[in-house]
Amino acid sequence: MITADLLLTNARFLTMDGPDTTALSILNGRIVALEEVPARETVDLGGATVVPGFHDAHNHMAWYGLSLAEVDLRLDSMDAVLAALTGADVPEGRWLVGSGYDENKIGRHPTRDDLDRIAPGRPAWLRHVSGHMCVVNSAVLRMLGLDERGRDVDGGLVVLDDTGRPTGLLQEQAQNLVNELVLPYPLHELTDAIDRAGQRYLAEGITSVTEAGIGGGWIGKSPVELAAYQAARDQGRLRVRTELMVAADALHPLTGHADDGLSLGLDLGIRTGFGDDWLRIGPVKVFTDGSLIGHTAALCHDYADRPGSGYLQGDADALTATIVRAHRSGWRVAAHAIGDAAIDLALDAYERAQRELPRPDARHRIEHFGVARHDQVERAVRLGVIGVPQARFVPEIGDGMLAALGPQRAGDAYRLRSLLDAGMVLPGSSDRPVTIGAPLLGIQAMVDRTTASGQPFSRHEQITPREALRAYTLGSAFASHREHVTGSLTVGKLADLAVLADDPTSVDTGSIGQIQVLRTMIGGQWRWN
Ligand SMILES: [Zn+2]
Repeated sequence: MITADLLLTNARFLTMDGPDTTALSILNGRIVALEEVPARETVDLGGATVVPGFHDAHNHMAWYGLSLAEVDLRLDSMDAVLAALTGADVPEGRWLVGSGYDENKIGRHPTRDDLDRIAPGRPAWLRHVSGHMCVVNSAVLRMLGLDERGRDVDGGLVVLDDTGRPTGLLQEQAQNLVNELVLPYPLHELTDAIDRAGQRYLAEGITSVTEAGIGGGWIGKSPVELAAYQAARDQGRLRVRTELMVAADALHPLTGHADDGLSLGLDLGIRTGFGDDWLRIGPVKVFTDGSLIGHTAALCHDYADRPGSGYLQGDADALTATIVRAHRSGWRVAAHAIGDAAIDLALDAYERAQRELPRPDARHRIEHFGVARHDQVERAVRLGVIGVPQARFVPEIGDGMLAALGPQRAGDAYRLRSLLDAGMVLPGSSDRPVTIGAPLLGIQAMVDRTTASGQPFSRHEQITPREALRAYTLGSAFASHREHVTGSLTVGKLADLAVLADDPTSVDTGSIGQIQVLRTMIGGQWRWN
């Protein structure tokens, strides 16, 4: 008979890949039994519910950590946004930085003139809640040579007013102009941000995250960003298991033997899968389009509330070539695609990649999978592609999405039920800090599907609490190729779990998000209490 390090009793264990149990035993950081065995220590959990640790399959860890130190602009009126900025305590000589505003909630985008009034002379930079656009004031525009007139940017837009003067709004790739002024962040600031983010994650029962883009593009914070994660780990400040997506811009041509077939990657041939249980290289992140509420997602038909159908983030052939080359070089690919036109591009590219070089079980992903027609769902399943939708978009920006799509096409938006029915493994994710990232709120949103104003949002896509819980645990592990080590309470797997005050599969669905997280364990150690 084994002697376990720790025996957990008097709880309901939702294992996610078998029957629920009432005890769980841990040895050397792994689950050794789903029953009571002799143990050096026993903890009575007092009737709590235990679930596998949550895995957020798409979040932005450093960005979230940095945003915790910026002015929070998730507010309901322009007056409130400007008041928050005016009242911000920003040291002399620093930029005024805010994030999280949504023009659908405050009526319009702030302008350079708004910002000039409240921050005369000081550089001001406001990030849109989607992360796909930003507003800067005249001080920043002057530094960019955009004070009086705009300029063309591939895959982006410097927005002009009727007289041809930049308004301060910079969309998609045009954000890189500002990034060139503020990037790279020093590593120590990023390490601090990663630590801040990780502490919040633990308090919410998160034990694993997939960070959705480091090292390049408008999403990256530094070309040497991985070093910040390694430093956090060295210092004991990487709080949760982390898989890092690498921005496609960070990949470059490789030279090796002609037979190797590695044409695109990182130095030394490092690619998806490199690392260990704590810190790993995940997929390469390829942005194919933008944001639905920002009207930059590439749709097959015009937006319902304004002319235009959005745009791709680059030349279609070049985006396809990047995806195919990355696949051929051994990368798992995560293509950001929200509009149905962008999803078509991603699926075409994955199909071509697999035709040219078949790779079984590649698990390429489509991040967001925002407006997906039924035929696209079926095609994704046929190709083994995983859609990674964020249900929290519905309560937070769902009204804006309904307006952008109109009632007819809203039925295709942020599907869940039809993905499961078609046979796709569904991960759970937040896109934090684009939305509030607590997994229990995410689970409630997957079940509920109601917008902030109370409108039902394609309710036929609702799933059950247990299905949503499974998505946030085993589904996300599968999307990271990690379901053999995490994602369920299974003998042999890592002892990653969250102790909840109540059972999300049996409480009233409207209160799932309010369930208290009591403790979080990673690798058999209590990391949060
Ligand atoms: Zn994202």
